[in-house]
Amino acid sequence: MIAPRSQLRLESNMYKNAKTWNPFKGCGFDCSYCFTSFRLQAKRQMHNCAECYEYRPHFHPERLRKISSSPIVFVCGNGDLAFATFDQREAIIAEITRHTRRHPQKTFYLQSKRPECFRPHLATLPPSAVLVTTLETNRDRGYEVVSTKAPLPSERYRQFLDLEYQRKIVTIEPVMDFDVDIFASWIINIAPELVYLGFNSKKKPKLLEPAPSKLAKFTAMVSTAGIDILGKTMRGLDMPGVVRPQAGEVGDAAEYPQPNEDQSYPVER
Ligand code: SF4
Repeated sequence: MIAPRSQLRLESNMYKNAKTWNPFKGCGFDCSYCFTSFRLQAKRQMHNCAECYEYRPHFHPERLRKISSSPIVFVCGNGDLAFATFDQREAIIAEITRHTRRHPQKTFYLQSKRPECFRPHLATLPPSAVLVTTLETNRDRGYEVVSTKAPLPSERYRQFLDLEYQRKIVTIEPVMDFDVDIFASWIINIAPELVYLGFNSKKKPKLLEPAPSKLAKFTAMVSTAGIDILGKTMRGLDMPGVVRPQAGEVGDAAEYPQPNEDQSYPVER
């Protein structure tokens, strides 16, 4: 299912207003870029929940009935559902199903870097549920700069591709250097209804990034295949087929330097 362009612009606006709903929090994949984003945010919970503060995977069943009112809901956006138990995920999905009956226009994003965790639940997901995974690159080599615990990109791709489910989104964020033909073929094979694309919005960690001309070739291939791409932190770059965020929208960070055409950022080790 591909959204028309006018709807995409609307979704781009809506992204700004999307909210997380966190009946489950925490993650054990320890991605390096998480320490400056989700894990840093979690430190605000020092006086509320020690497990949230430590970003340890844990369930908050008292939040099940407190679904965010926004049009798009990031389900457990501050964590990874791969660390929830089967029963915890089923309880969350049951709540989404109940809520969808009253609010059929809402969309729920369920994201994991181990997407096969959704396999036992495919039959119970309501149509409002979209499965999401992150693929920053197609390259396994060098991925340890992000994580040694998350499934490697090639394994994640295989898991996501193998899920027999209509509604999928891939988030390529923060984008890392890739092989154009291979990475584009992955995305086209998955056939997601949307791709989110963005550079690292933080100054650290420094990641090896694609040159703009390479990224443009990639977005042209993916968009030509009929897959829509929403830009997040694009650093002012226009790319073929990419709908840019509105001014002031989350992720349109301008302070980060533009990538050089012929020299990617060094990987910080
Ligand atoms: S998978 Fe997501 S939540 Fe888990 S450590 Fe990585 S960025 Fe953070």
